[in-house]
Amino acid sequence: MNAGAYGRDVSDILVEATVVTREGSVEVWSAEKLGFTYRHSDLPAGAVVVEAVFSGTPGEPAVIGAEMDRIAAEREASQPLRSRTGGSTFKNPEGHKAWALIDAAGCRGLTRGDAQVSEKHCNFLLNLGSASSAEIEALGEEVRDRVKAHSGVTLEWEIQRVGVAK
Ligand SMILES: Cc1cc2nc3c(=O)[nH]c(=O)nc-3n(C[C@H](O)[C@H](O)[C@H](O)COP(=O)(O)OP(=O)(O)OC[C@H]3O[C@@H](n4cnc5c(N)ncnc54)[C@H](O)[C@@H]3O)c2cc1C
Repeated sequence: MNAGAYGRDVSDILVEATVVTREGSVEVWSAEKLGFTYRHSDLPAGAVVVEAVFSGTPGEPAVIGAEMDRIAAEREASQPLRSRTGGSTFKNPEGHKAWALIDAAGCRGLTRGDAQVSEKHCNFLLNLGSASSAEIEALGEEVRDRVKAHSGVTLEWEIQRVGVAK
């Protein structure tokens, strides 16, 4: 999915990945062939990555460690990392921040059953205790509707949803 944060993502450092396809063949895919874009790769459905080569940038261990600590502290301060959440819920639309659109549409803290739009970071949906997946999905759809009505922007789910709601 080309995970990333704070201006960098996996595609910045991935050289190649060894992939086992649904048909059972083992193939080495270069980063170029993987066709990374924002939160997307061309990895075929059902293929499994079994090995990957990354290329880092050499640096002073103390400097690298300090930068890792800084980012970890920033995440801790701005995201509900210790709650039940699937992480960032919607992709950032071109030229926008999803959390800001959700906030502007009045969705911060919005609840449906035990599902809640995080007060700390509006692009995170929380399970406060006993929310069903259907409640979380319905809350997300309500957020999408409200953002569309308020700003005209259609939010796209970043979280991959599986199964059928009952
Ligand atoms: C609190 C929190 C904060 C987060 N913050 C960020 C963030 O800042 N930026 C960001 O990009 N994401 C963020 N995420 C999302 C997280 O990075 C992604 O969900 C990540 O892909 C999870 O990987 P996993 O292997 O742990 O999960 P899994 O659920 O095991 O896998 C995620 C998906 O990848 C597939 N997959 C797993 N392993 C393989 C494999 N070997 N080969 C092929 N497919 C595979 C699975 O089938 C599934 O579709 C956050 C999530 C949480 C909970």
